[in-house]
Amino acid sequence: MELDSHAEDLASDLGVDKEEVKADLKNLVEYSVPIDEAKGSLRRKYGDGSSAGSSTPSARNLGDVTPDDGSVTVTGVVLTAGERSIRYQGDDQVIVEGRLADETGVIDYTAWEDFGLSPGETITAGNAGVREWDGEPELNLGESTSLSFVDESLDVDYEIGGDAQLAELQTGDRAVSIEVSVLECERRTIDGRDGETEILSGVFGDESGRLPFTNWDPAPEIEDGGPVRIENAYVQEFRGVPEVNVSAFSTVSALEREVDVGADATTMEIGDAVRTGGIYDVEIVGNLIAVRDGSGLIQRCPECYRVIQKGQCRTHGDVDGVDDLRVKAILDDGTGTVTVVLDDDLTEDVYDGTLEDALEQAREAMDQEVVADTIRERIVGREYRVRGHLSVDDYGANLDAETLEESADDPTTRARAFLEEFGADAEATEVDL
Ligand SMILES: [Zn+2]
Repeated sequence: MELDSHAEDLASDLGVDKEEVKADLKNLVEYSVPIDEAKGSLRRKYGDGSSAGSSTPSARNLGDVTPDDGSVTVTGVVLTAGERSIRYQGDDQVIVEGRLADETGVIDYTAWEDFGLSPGETITAGNAGVREWDGEPELNLGESTSLSFVDESLDVDYEIGGDAQLAELQTGDRAVSIEVSVLECERRTIDGRDGETEILSGVFGDESGRLPFTNWDPAPEIEDGGPVRIENAYVQEFRGVPEVNVSAFSTVSALEREVDVGADATTMEIGDAVRTGGIYDVEIVGNLIAVRDGSGLIQRCPECYRVIQKGQCRTHGDVDGVDDLRVKAILDDGTGTVTVVLDDDLTEDVYDGTLEDALEQAREAMDQEVVADTIRERIVGREYRVRGHLSVDDYGANLDAETLEESADDPTTRARAFLEEFGADAEATEVDL
């Protein structure tokens, strides 16, 4: 919502002049006060008679808080509390994020002030703002929140602390603790919000799976290859998949024990995989029903490496394209479809030729589309098992393939997979198959 409509809402709620409210609101927002909090404090200033946002909101069970609540008073146990720095309206601000639980439920919170929250403590937050995030209510603890520590500890069904396995992590998770091996790690210079800065990026693994990471303040324990224990990491989406973020506020320590990395990717139905919104490492099996345009022999911009049409890059204009091979193919398993993207190596495999062969074929035919046609003939209609990184966005679901193999269409394999899925002891039945 724009400032204007916030001001209008407030003015009509409070029965005061809109311009006056808007000027006050603008002032507070310029001082980096979150909008909900700014509205709360104006409600108090102008003496709100209504219940929403009044200075003494009623006590609520966490399970009953809804995004429609203006502000609430709640009591709960701090499950996690992780500091991180964000840029809010032009300024760096340290916030604390985590989860709060009582007997009825659990809720995410953001604390804009340093209340000294730590896991295991029971608190009462008076006049905590409620905002909506992804359809769920979240608590905002700010200047207008009165926070007190309660001696009597609540007994909750949730685990205190943020210990998690990689496979459980989801975009939006905060204050998580993980124990991982560092599978890949490289130091890179990026153009950050404060100029050039060095970061580490790579892939973590644990017993449950693998996830990419960014370490914003390079930790030697990670660069040395681990294994490491990381406390207070957060998960953010990057290029459509969840990524572990290790910040300057995270604690990284070398682990004594080894961390085994699960070698198998989870095999999922396409429909289920797409509904997760993105998975770093997943395996799907389906029929390859079409090879899309933009496959086969293509040209990329030498600057940005994006695919170009007729020598024109959308960003860099007229460029000398670099020849490359790729395939974008649609895989369908009856539950959904994804576009599987094959890089140059995998494309050479399915084309059964090199880039030079493709250029030669295109020269002879005086048409580069013949390369895509050849690939089409070879792969459409066959069943493939593909493993890679699934990202889902407004344009659809893409699976960047790491491996692709024609699915052994062998009844024994299928029967075994079927039995495993239903919990039968595959080993015991193997003789019969
Ligand atoms: Zn370009």
